[in-house]
Amino acid sequence: MALALQAGVAEAIRRHGAETYPNECCGALIGRDGAVSHASALPNTTEEGPRRRFRVRPEDYRDAERLAAEQGAELLGFYHSHPDHPARPSQYDLDHAWPFFSYVIVSVRAGAPQDMTSWRLREDRSVFDQEELLDAGQQMGVVPTTGHG
Ligand SMILES: [Zn+2]
Repeated sequence: MALALQAGVAEAIRRHGAETYPNECCGALIGRDGAVSHASALPNTTEEGPRRRFRVRPEDYRDAERLAAEQGAELLGFYHSHPDHPARPSQYDLDHAWPFFSYVIVSVRAGAPQDMTSWRLREDRSVFDQEELLDAGQQMGVVPTTGHG
């Protein structure tokens, strides 16, 4: 499994994460055939407040699907930032993810974007598997996985 980010997408995600720091940012990944051509910012609205919790509401999901359809593309997944935390999914992320989508996480430390990773939820929703993230020729940070799953 791999997710490709076309030129400008990784920068847009990093910029969004830096702008919203110390809060989390989130957005939709729109493209086709496993290649993201557009990162679309979504409002981060949760009951717990924006700082700690990333959640895509059903209406965000519908908006993102509509936006993708308008561009003749598909909703491939979602991205969000982890302010001052590693670019690995949290238990909260696991509990609120949908299968079949890619979840890109960018770590932002002291306002500066760091590693970016991509994950997919297993169909039984038990765990995330990391997938390769390809950034239009740039080398991406990859968190080493343990075991052979
Ligand atoms: Zn998260």
